[in-house]
Amino acid sequence: MITGKNCIAGDFSGKGSVGFKTINPKLNSENPTTFVEATKEEIEEAVSAAWDAFKTYRKLPGAKRAAFLNAIADEMLALDQELVDTYTTESGLPEGRAVGERGRTVFQLRTFAELVANDDWRENTFDAAQPDRKPLPKDDLRKTMIPLGPVVVFGASNFPLAYSTAGGDTASALAAGCPVIVKSHPMHAGTSELVASAIVKAAEKTGMPKGVFSSINGGIQAGVDLVSHPKVKAVGFTGSIGGGRALFDLAAKREEPIPVFAEMGSINPVIITPNAISKRGNEIAKTYAGSITLGTGQFCTNPGLLLTVKDGNTESFVNELAKETIALDPQCMLHPNIKSGYDKKGADVTSQTGVEVVGKVSGTLEPNYAASVVATVSGAEFLDNPKLHQEVFGPFSMVVQCKDETELLQIIEGLEGQLTGTLIAEDDDALDLAEIVDALQNRVGRVIYNGVPTGVEVCPSMQHGGPYPASTDSRFTAVGIHSIKRWVRPVSYQSFPQSLLPEHLKG
Ligand code: NAP
Repeated sequence: MITGKNCIAGDFSGKGSVGFKTINPKLNSENPTTFVEATKEEIEEAVSAAWDAFKTYRKLPGAKRAAFLNAIADEMLALDQELVDTYTTESGLPEGRAVGERGRTVFQLRTFAELVANDDWRENTFDAAQPDRKPLPKDDLRKTMIPLGPVVVFGASNFPLAYSTAGGDTASALAAGCPVIVKSHPMHAGTSELVASAIVKAAEKTGMPKGVFSSINGGIQAGVDLVSHPKVKAVGFTGSIGGGRALFDLAAKREEPIPVFAEMGSINPVIITPNAISKRGNEIAKTYAGSITLGTGQFCTNPGLLLTVKDGNTESFVNELAKETIALDPQCMLHPNIKSGYDKKGADVTSQTGVEVVGKVSGTLEPNYAASVVATVSGAEFLDNPKLHQEVFGPFSMVVQCKDETELLQIIEGLEGQLTGTLIAEDDDALDLAEIVDALQNRVGRVIYNGVPTGVEVCPSMQHGGPYPASTDSRFTAVGIHSIKRWVRPVSYQSFPQSLLPEHLKG
């Protein structure tokens, strides 16, 4: 049952007087539960408990943390239809998506459980002593990874499960040995509370310290208080560039600065060669219409920018893409605020000089349903106007028609950092594909050949992150087992007796 309370170190607490409700975007009406924002006192309790828990949690054998993560997965599944129904009523996303995202979340938890069941993930390295080395002897050195401390995770609006309360950031931080305090996303507070209750049950069943997990309801001030707290040692965030940047700056200004791993905006450029358009333009248009509108375009990997070199086939390709895109049924967005943001940014971009709207869903739509848009502009106008480079979060894509390959490369090289970059080409292409790939890989975290950027596989080779502003630190990934590296730091032990070494460095 959803109480509307905060989860403070295993107890549900609602001491505050400020309440809010979530919205069912499909019905365009409020859901019944009133959620209570955490007080400063409750935030302090959560962080202090996390700090206390860190002292024991970080030293638990990996197998115990693995049992905890597996128990969270079990308890999430046990929530069954209540979780699915709450997810759909708070997000407007269909039941199939809820079930799929729950499966992905459970998979992530179990993958991290498997990873930390032994200590190989710590990248332990050993340098044997060389007492007789000349001119100086060399000491015995052993290096390992240790957890940073309590981590604050900001739940993502567009992934109520997989990047929220027990999502990738939480699973990887708990796996590393860091207690977690979630600042739940206000758009899906009920979903977050249900998942928080699953984590509390799992912690009780597996004997975890109570402060290992808390979840806070609240607005911007709650986030600021958490990130400013001296006992918080790292932050995970998925959301807007404005929000991520504000938290990054706040963390940098602390007396003790801490890392903020923020995954933010991306327009995910797709380069489509004229040769590919001439050979299979209609097929590409159909595939990309599906990718642009997938999840109502509310994916960080949504293809918002398509680039080509203009020739005799470009116009018919753009028309085909627009036709296929607006033929797909409009879908509901996550929240009225996301919908108004989509309309505002879309209108801003399409009102710029030289931009032509080739296709837009017309007629009266249900409230919070998004009208998909395909627009086009010349390479010269795109180069001249930074407003055209911004993310329009939703089913929107802009085709940029470059005059030649030089202009195409100039655009790619000038792009802000992106999560992904895609090349759609043919083996016998006239364009210098190697040069395009070289330029592209310099601006993105993942390059895709003849595919779509939407759909992020959870596996060790996945890179989900990219140069700023796609993320605040392009050296790390937010997806896959390597995301654990965000929450640990290396420590060397020099000339240590066996008795004082951690178990995994002995021998
Ligand atoms: P958001 O506004 O960045 O909010 C994300 C979380 O951070 C929320 O919990 C929010 O709290 C908090 N927050 C935001 N600014 C903050 C600040 N200055 N200090 C402390 N906490 C702060 O993102 P959103 O609500 O998910 O969506 C808004 C827009 O972000 C979307 O329309 C879209 O443009 C973009 N977005 C992009 C992606 C992507 O993957 N590229 C994903 C999600 C969203 P409050 O809600 O209480 O303000």
